[in-house]
Amino acid sequence: MRVELLPSTFDDQGVATLEQRLTCFLIDDLVAVDAGSIAIALNNEQRNSIRDIIVTHPHMDHIASLPIFIDDLYPLLQEPMRVHATPEVIDLLERDVFNWNVYPRFSELKNDYGPVMEYVPIPVGRPFSVAHLSVVAVPVNHIVPTVGLVVSDGKTSVAFSSDTAETEEFWKLVNEIKQLDALLIEASFPNGMAKLAEVSRHFTPASLGQELKKLTHNGMDIMAVHLKPTYRDEIVKQLEELRIPKLSVMEPGKVYNW
Ligand SMILES: [Zn+2]
Ligand SMILES: [Zn+2]
Repeated sequence: MRVELLPSTFDDQGVATLEQRLTCFLIDDLVAVDAGSIAIALNNEQRNSIRDIIVTHPHMDHIASLPIFIDDLYPLLQEPMRVHATPEVIDLLERDVFNWNVYPRFSELKNDYGPVMEYVPIPVGRPFSVAHLSVVAVPVNHIVPTVGLVVSDGKTSVAFSSDTAETEEFWKLVNEIKQLDALLIEASFPNGMAKLAEVSRHFTPASLGQELKKLTHNGMDIMAVHLKPTYRDEIVKQLEELRIPKLSVMEPGKVYNW
């Protein structure tokens, strides 16, 4: 499985910077998990191949350029852009984003080929298919309805925590898989900001270190993501101090193969 965290900012040479401001993972250039930077950082091939987007929750850093992406492709879409999300998240996207005020309600619009956007409600706790992938979503502990995911192509399984603080169902799901190849988990704030992490339901390196004790698999890559750009260096240092084997920080723009 090929997984890329899309960049959201670039330096003056056009090279992706290490800071992650938005969240969008591409899987095998076919499926996106969240859509923060989707309209900013896809190459043309990816723009033509991505038609399935799983939205874990409606926070802006996860959906910022989703409306723009659909808008860009509007006349060209020969099949609808499928947005896979829980019914609660679909309701929030319709109410707060695609509401004719912030942006058009694309789910009601058609181009010459047919509908341009389609919501696909996803169940929690039961497998569903997205393109070539089998996915299971479970609620995690964030301030809006949010799901964590385990994504499998039949050979490789990768877990995405999305945004969360201490949680249980996600670990139950992850620990039940026979083989886990990679875990992508959030580490948003430095340890000195534990209070803010707590109220906004995110991890610090310290709370993540505690949380990872719930993981019964070992040997897989653990990739920290969602580090707040302003505190990135501090968070990276604190993550290193945990001395957890195979824990590293995921680099935007780099392709990982598992
Ligand atoms: Zn969030
Ligand atoms: Zn976020």
